Amino acid sequence: MIRVEHLTKKFGDTLVLDDISEHIDEGEKVVIIGPSGSGKSTFLRCLNLLEIPTSGRVWFNNQEITSQNTDINKIRCQMGMVFQHFNLFPNKTVKRNITLAPVRTGLMTQEQADQRAMELLHRVGLEDKADVYPASLSGGQKQRIAIVRAMAMNPRVLLFDEPTSALDPEMVGEVLEVMRELAEDGMTMAIVTHEMGFAREVGSRVLFINEGKVQEEGTPEEIFSHPKNPRLQDFLSKVL
Ligand code: ADP
Ligand code: MG
Repeated sequence: MIRVEHLTKKFGDTLVLDDISEHIDEGEKVVIIGPSGSGKSTFLRCLNLLEIPTSGRVWFNNQEITSQNTDINKIRCQMGMVFQHFNLFPNKTVKRNITLAPVRTGLMTQEQADQRAMELLHRVGLEDKADVYPASLSGGQKQRIAIVRAMAMNPRVLLFDEPTSALDPEMVGEVLEVMRELAEDGMTMAIVTHEMGFAREVGSRVLFINEGKVQEEGTPEEIFSHPKNPRLQDFLSKVL
């Protein structure tokens, strides 16, 4: 579904991603781990061109999205993204947050989008929050709404960038639970996280990014029980 070849990203003279070639297949749940500052967010953001690669190419469903001819906005509609800090619109109700993109892009009428929003809110147990503003929600509720907002576009893939890192510990579980259900429903997902238990349980493949390279990848069993790279062993000894 997503393929990157020789992906390199520099900020000024700093090399942040160093010649990464990777792929995410339909239905895979690819978990990305690694130390802070290693390039995990930049990698994720290059997949939907929120960051423009310095060199290398990115494909989405066999269409090269780094090509000049691609309408990237059309592609982004099919790639939902969930951020660490939720990024909800504070001046819009929960329901408006969810329906804005599907209506603006012409994917749905307001009525259709409202109906879809209520279905999704029901799935995450927040239908009673449809008409409130984000400020009145807890962090865990905000993040569940942000996931619902991404899902409202019926994306082909969801990208998560440390979705639970900004949450109080008691709210982490409710967000991971929603993500676990999406995974069980067959959603294709790429997830940057420090939640190693979740990575182990839900991940179909784990990538260890360090110093801008994928230094090791494998099944959760391979990565967590039999890590080979000393840098990965060192990282795991600090986070597990
Ligand atoms: P991670 O998500 O693994 O913590 P990032 O991808 O956010 O790492 O950052 C990797 C490196 O790139 C860091 O050194 C960071 O300071 C740098 N970086 C990230 N975004 C920018 C930017 N917009 N401008 C300059 N440097 C950046
Ligand atoms: Mg990051």
